[in-house]
Amino acid sequence: MSQTQVLRVCALYPDLMNIYADRGNLLLLRRRCEWRGVGFELSAAGIGEPLDPAGADLYYMGGGQDRDQELCAADLRELKAVALATAAASGAVVLGVCGGYQLLGHAYQLDGRELAGVGLLDVHTVRSDGPRLIGNAAIEPELPGAGGQLLAGFENHAGRTYLGPRAARLGRVLRGHGNNGTDGSEGARQGNVIGTYLHGPLLPKNAWFADWLIATALSRDGLQPLADGLEERAHADALAAAGL
Ligand code: GLN
Repeated sequence: MSQTQVLRVCALYPDLMNIYADRGNLLLLRRRCEWRGVGFELSAAGIGEPLDPAGADLYYMGGGQDRDQELCAADLRELKAVALATAAASGAVVLGVCGGYQLLGHAYQLDGRELAGVGLLDVHTVRSDGPRLIGNAAIEPELPGAGGQLLAGFENHAGRTYLGPRAARLGRVLRGHGNNGTDGSEGARQGNVIGTYLHGPLLPKNAWFADWLIATALSRDGLQPLADGLEERAHADALAAAGL
């Protein structure tokens, strides 16, 4: 297996969209690359900074509170949307978690206003006056190559997200609320653009999914296995917390 590859990750708004241990997701990607002798380069694009559409294999945007999301939304549209769409069209992986997921869709409606997103996912989100959708959750992903693995995590969102016809659900809700608490869907996927409400953080609880992202971003069929005893226990604990 080639040891010369490098995974280039770009974190979008790492200082504003990071409330659910999103740094842990980036650290896990780094470690799982380095343990295999795959290089890892992390860059960031914050408010006011342009985005290089050829600068990363994986673009990551984490969770944020409504006010932080609002700060990012206009910047994302004006300075980064075109580059992100170009990157996605050339096969880069784009992963949005929670608030980041909402901004990958068409819009997030709240308080009678609409925050336009970048529309890379055919989804829209409406903030509800109803209870926040909170708790441990588990889903059965419908990803090619997921190999029967489950995803576990914690969700905490007021927004309800609804899928349009071009987006597939990331998975079927086994435990928890998912996109909107009603239709049994969680997350969304369109090609290599993925959004999910699962965090807490997502990747340390689901190391297999981190590997799926790395392999997909690097266009590799598989990755060298690692000694994952601890990771498998973390995954089992997260599933157990969700009642599985
Ligand atoms: N602000 C969004 C909501 O509450 C997303 C929150 C988050 O990222 N956890 O729906």
